[in-house]
Amino acid sequence: MSAEAVILKKPEHGISRRHIDADALKILFRLHHLGFTAYLTGGAVRDMMLGKVPKDFDIVTDARPGQIKKYFHRVFIVGRRFRLAHVHFGAGKVIEVATFRRHSSLAGANGAHGRNVPETIYGSPREDAWRRDITINALFYDAISTSVIDYVGGLADLRLKRIRIIGDSGQRFREDPVRIWRVIRYAARAGFAISEDTEREIAGHRHLLADCSGARLFEELYKDLNYMASRPVVAALRKFRILGHIIGRAGTDYENDDALFARLDHFLAVEDCEKANGHRPMLDELCAILFWPWLEPQLAAAQGDMQLALKKAFLDAKMSVLLPKSLRAQVIDILVLTVKMIRALRTGRMRWSMRGRAQYSKASRLCFLVEKKRAPESGESFESLFQQAFPRIWVSGPHRRRGK
Ligand code: ATP
Ligand code: MG
Repeated sequence: MSAEAVILKKPEHGISRRHIDADALKILFRLHHLGFTAYLTGGAVRDMMLGKVPKDFDIVTDARPGQIKKYFHRVFIVGRRFRLAHVHFGAGKVIEVATFRRHSSLAGANGAHGRNVPETIYGSPREDAWRRDITINALFYDAISTSVIDYVGGLADLRLKRIRIIGDSGQRFREDPVRIWRVIRYAARAGFAISEDTEREIAGHRHLLADCSGARLFEELYKDLNYMASRPVVAALRKFRILGHIIGRAGTDYENDDALFARLDHFLAVEDCEKANGHRPMLDELCAILFWPWLEPQLAAAQGDMQLALKKAFLDAKMSVLLPKSLRAQVIDILVLTVKMIRALRTGRMRWSMRGRAQYSKASRLCFLVEKKRAPESGESFESLFQQAFPRIWVSGPHRRRGK
């Protein structure tokens, strides 16, 4: 652990308080006036240094969760192993305030349970920086002195456009294999290279991802699918052959078959573009897109109960990620409806009662994407495709039924 922190003053880092959420600033100043040290940390500082707008503003302080609860209104203490304070503001807004802690051998975010957190879990700002995953995620921003504080070489790595694990990569990956995923994610998001020693350890440790909690892997998958630029991240996960360790057979098929992956890659590119235009796809839609190219050949040939065939395909894939049951059922519904729509576009036969199904509009969108390789514009849908293909049936079929 290096001794001295590198401190960057305002003219050298370009972060302005104007870029910082007003409620986060209030918490920082209040903690300061109460005599505590408090910094912005993690993704917020990283993103501001990269000139991006942070998704959220996490705070770290030497105040303990109980003290935060005492001094602030509407605070909820969450987390079993590491207790964190969630400070609530209106309209569902929450700012996370954590206490500086030190590296623990049980460092995986989903490690041990137990409410009795030993005092020794807490640490100094330096120790807190060192227990984090990658150097550019371990910077602190002090809103009082308006300086960036770096204990781990994150500023140098930002300059070098480099993603580097803090400490020994192999050891940190063994402690928590999800860090492998995170290294690849943040490298892909920022367009940075992965440092040589960190990259070297990925191949030897990536299989450990399959042993992580399926629920935690699902949370990570959600972050990537939901992210504005999911395409480069998924492509990087494939390049490092992580997909198979996450989504089982679906992932290995994507890794081994360039043409199959090219379909997914294109869909993700379209979706990223849509997100940039303000479309906010739901998670079940995003999962349906993720699995469509992989399932499409099986679905095209499927006879009989397609729901059952899909359930079996998901089970047989032996995914490490645990899709919540209700989500999986919704995804299967979207996929089955989409197949029916595509078949209808070939045959002219459609059961229009399906319009009442909850997933109808999501399937309609996916059907359009599959058929046209682009997102529907206003007025476009499965129905407009059907109408073009079968104008006569359209007039005599669906309209008559609609009037019933
Ligand atoms: P995002 O924009 O995706 O939220 P983030 O860096 O804020 O990026 P979080 O998952 O919110 O990512 O985590 C917050 C911070 O907690 C990280 O910046 C990092 O410092 C630390 N962290 C998260 N996961 C780990 C981990 N597995 N091991 C060590 N530190 C971690
Ligand atoms: Mg975050």
